[in-house]
Amino acid sequence: MIIVRYGEIGIKGGKRREFERKLAENIGKALRRKGIEGKTKIIRGRILVDVPDEAAEIIAKVPGVVSVSPARVMEYEEIPAYLKEALKDYNPRSFRVDTRRLDKTFLKTSMEVNREIGAFVVENFGWKVDLENPELTIGIEIIGGKAYVFFEKIPGVGGLPVGTQGKVVVLLSGGIDSPVAAFLMLKRGAEVIALHFDQGLNARNVVERVVDILEDYSPEPIELIVENHFEVLKPYVSALARAKLREWTCVVCKVAMLRRAAEIAREKGALGIVTGDSLGQVASQTLANLYFETMSVRFPVHRPLLGMDKEEIVAIARRIGTYEAFLEYPYCDCPFRPERVVTSGKLEQFQRVLEALDREGVV
Ligand code: ATP
Ligand code: MG
Repeated sequence: MIIVRYGEIGIKGGKRREFERKLAENIGKALRRKGIEGKTKIIRGRILVDVPDEAAEIIAKVPGVVSVSPARVMEYEEIPAYLKEALKDYNPRSFRVDTRRLDKTFLKTSMEVNREIGAFVVENFGWKVDLENPELTIGIEIIGGKAYVFFEKIPGVGGLPVGTQGKVVVLLSGGIDSPVAAFLMLKRGAEVIALHFDQGLNARNVVERVVDILEDYSPEPIELIVENHFEVLKPYVSALARAKLREWTCVVCKVAMLRRAAEIAREKGALGIVTGDSLGQVASQTLANLYFETMSVRFPVHRPLLGMDKEEIVAIARRIGTYEAFLEYPYCDCPFRPERVVTSGKLEQFQRVLEALDREGVV
């Protein structure tokens, strides 16, 4: 049996039931995708999943899950006999008992259970009690009159169940940043469609691998749309060359991507575009350039990494597993990149860029 904990703060009434139902459903789907069948049951602020302990790692990756514990269910009176057996393989320097009584009709208080079971452990194993920083925590949760006993609390990703927030189109490269942006959107409950612009470098394998890894955090398979980057970009680049505005290529490259993304988003009923931009990271990500890029597309563009440093982004990428895929990503020396690129252009200049694009019929 696995106990699943989820955040409750700020979720009330009907919304809360919707949250719980969706989360239980998503956990079921995540398990089924890995070939594990098991019943989920919602009781009193917990979701109980009747599956083998190994499934805990899968459940921990489902957005909305705060933590999971593989547990044994028993009557309260059976706890001592169970612990006598189960604790044989442990030899901690210190321990404590941590009881949560989710079922307030249970006759003993949490403190009483802590003391009673703690005394039993001291008597039988002679371990030292440490309430502040114990090596082993014996967890007990009283749910629906039964005791759930566990020794492990695996942190989940937190956030909200996917499917509670609508859909977004994520511009996904095989780099470090955009996979993290996609993950953060999944984490906050949005469904993700991945859009990749193929630059003909076998990056496609890497991007497919990234999508594979991201799918661990998504109840449904993630749709990956691959476009030929050069075909999308070509009319823009020619228009810029003719207008002698080549230094705007990198900005316009992003404009091309965003406009295509907006088209796809409208088709798919998505409500936003998401990128992995982080303020000032590279030439196309100055505030001025982000301004031009965003102004050129009549669709909301979200940048969940905008305020993050590279180290913070890398730390998340490592944690979620997409960093390893990035290491396989081929370095692209973009053939369209001019010697000089604009980093703090003026709006009047950019108007000329847009006019040039208009004149050439590039939309
Ligand atoms: P990343 O690590 O995500 O590739 P980056 O640091 O390389 O980002 P840029 O190349 O400037 O930064 O790209 C900024 C954003 O534009 C990316 O985070 C991504 O959302 C999008 N993007 C860039 N290249 C592509 C591509 N080939 N296909 C789809 N989206 C892309
Ligand atoms: Mg990149």
